Amino acid sequence: MALEKRDLYRFPWSKNDNPIAWLEVTDICNLQCEGCYRQRLTGHKPLEEIKEEILFFKRWRNPDNVSIAGGEPLVHPQILDIVAFIAENGIKPILLTNALTLTPEFLHELKRAGLAGFTFHIDSHQGRRGWENRNEAGHNELRQHYADMVAVEGGLITVFNSTVYPSTFHEIPEVVRWGQANVDRVHGLVFITYRVLATDVNVAFDSESAQVDPGQLSYSTEHFSEDFVTSPEVYRMIKDRFPEYEPSGYLGGTVRHDSVKWLAGAMIGSKHGFYGAIGKKTMELAQIGHHLFNGTYLAYPGELSSVRAVFLLSPWDGTLRQAARRWLADVVRHPRRLFDRLWVQTIGIIQAPDVQPDGLADMCDSCPDMTVWNGTLINSCRMDEYRLFGGLLRAYERSDMESALTASSPGRVPEQAR
Ligand code: SF4
Repeated sequence: MALEKRDLYRFPWSKNDNPIAWLEVTDICNLQCEGCYRQRLTGHKPLEEIKEEILFFKRWRNPDNVSIAGGEPLVHPQILDIVAFIAENGIKPILLTNALTLTPEFLHELKRAGLAGFTFHIDSHQGRRGWENRNEAGHNELRQHYADMVAVEGGLITVFNSTVYPSTFHEIPEVVRWGQANVDRVHGLVFITYRVLATDVNVAFDSESAQVDPGQLSYSTEHFSEDFVTSPEVYRMIKDRFPEYEPSGYLGGTVRHDSVKWLAGAMIGSKHGFYGAIGKKTMELAQIGHHLFNGTYLAYPGELSSVRAVFLLSPWDGTLRQAARRWLADVVRHPRRLFDRLWVQTIGIIQAPDVQPDGLADMCDSCPDMTVWNGTLINSCRMDEYRLFGGLLRAYERSDMESALTASSPGRVPEQAR
């Protein structure tokens, strides 16, 4: 079945009322991931500047959580103070980390400081020493190591991100299978499709229409000839192997009406497998209800004390009803499973910016990962364009531009392409 936006709930998030704020505490990292958006330009941010940004988010973003990102945030020398300051301000601090420096003792300190959870970024294109020859399935062992470490500490949200490359796309089901087997300790999986600007076929212009070298950006490469993976393709890949998978919410694109930039589903399952998912009505109720009672929308649901209670919404939600029926049928076949605990595990898919023929990039509409730069909110995935060129670039296929450029003043973007 094709993805239909009308069958999904469009998250009500906006620039000023969004469950996520993206805080970059450093651009230093101890890995060199192929899909990284950031390069080292300035180093660790001072604590006072970070506190100001957190207060800025509180005022202008109304976040439920602050995603503490980088670079690698765990290498910031004041990371415990940063976590504590976010928690003191009534916001959930979530660390986005490669976990290279994480130990059980460090983890314990982070929790004591008020940490709400982790999003671990682990995939097979990070060049981790000792893991170079492992594929995505092989990296499940590393995912397990960190999932178990957090489970021993307890009381923390645990999500795993991975970048999806054309070469690793077919391995997504192996990661989902691993997540399903760990439904008691993994609260979410996120698949982010890889995007890069190939400098052999693209040219770029800054906001003053002057030609610039996009090769300075970390998200550029000399040559890339493979087809980018899209969100609907990732959805299809998961759906074919796990028919119970149903997304319930989405964000579209800023340019294209038909793009799906964020797609989120919340699966219900036990250690025996997924029974199904919540549908768009339950997702809507969760977002509106959280906003009504807590004042913020929700991105990280955490652990529910009773997932069975969610089944009470089945009369209004056909997707949820199917999950409840599958669970009941399983209990009839295996009566002792009536007492097995049920869990919710989210599966998210993100399609990174796509450059369009008019030079603009199709971004995530109501981008959840906005950060602050020079006192304003910008998309974090493109911050290096601001840092290097003072603003967003436009990119065009070189072949389209060369003839137009010779007819215009050389080195400037021609009028018809602005
Ligand atoms: S537009 Fe926002 S949500 Fe989308 S990839 Fe960029 S930073 Fe992430």
